Amino acid sequence: MTDSYRHKGLRKRLVDTLRKRGISDEAVLAALLAVPRHFFLDNAFAEHAYEDKAFPIGNEQTISQPFTVAYQTMLLDVHANDRILEIGTGSGYQAAILAALGARVYTIERQEDLHLASKDLLQKMGFKTIQCFFGDGTKGLADFAPYDKIIVTAGAPVIPDALKVQLMIGGSLVIPVGESVQYMHHIKRLAAGSYQTEVLEACRFVPFLEGVQKR
Ligand code: SAH
Repeated sequence: MTDSYRHKGLRKRLVDTLRKRGISDEAVLAALLAVPRHFFLDNAFAEHAYEDKAFPIGNEQTISQPFTVAYQTMLLDVHANDRILEIGTGSGYQAAILAALGARVYTIERQEDLHLASKDLLQKMGFKTIQCFFGDGTKGLADFAPYDKIIVTAGAPVIPDALKVQLMIGGSLVIPVGESVQYMHHIKRLAAGSYQTEVLEACRFVPFLEGVQKR
């Protein structure tokens, strides 16, 4: 795997496009500039890694579109040393972006194949602040709770209570909610039993499913 000047140039162009499309958080854009997205794609799609598109990563799943990754990350408002739970590791790209922003990332994936592949890749790339787990993220990841932030990268028919209660007071959850089309939800935990919900843009994600799929 190499990250050439050409790749860096393409990445710069992608970041300029995202800025024009309304991503105003320069720290998020710097993270997208730093992380080579082509490492996270199958060779067949690597050529297209710097187009603002989602691509298949196997097992009927997709790596999210760069705009979506930037948008969800911007909503999370990541600070150095935030402890962040990501549901839906997929390719590992979103986890890498969070780590590039200085977060400590716990990421969980329900498909064992994808879990093993992304764990291996992130390790090879030298990410020491990302821990990968195989399991059903509808239950969150209680062992390491509470989290400063939680991000869900699959479309959820309903918001699992387990995720809300694994947030710190003052923490927030970014989750696309809905069946075929979802609306991004930004939920803040104000006090033990008090949450504030903001409903944002329409978006489209692969489904958030219960249970696990072994290889
Ligand atoms: N963040 C990923 C996006 C992958 S697509 C990336 O950057 O590439 C969403 C992923 O969520 C898929 O891999 C899917 O298998 C996973 N997923 C769906 N439901 C899940 C659940 N209940 N627990 C954990 N992962 C889940």
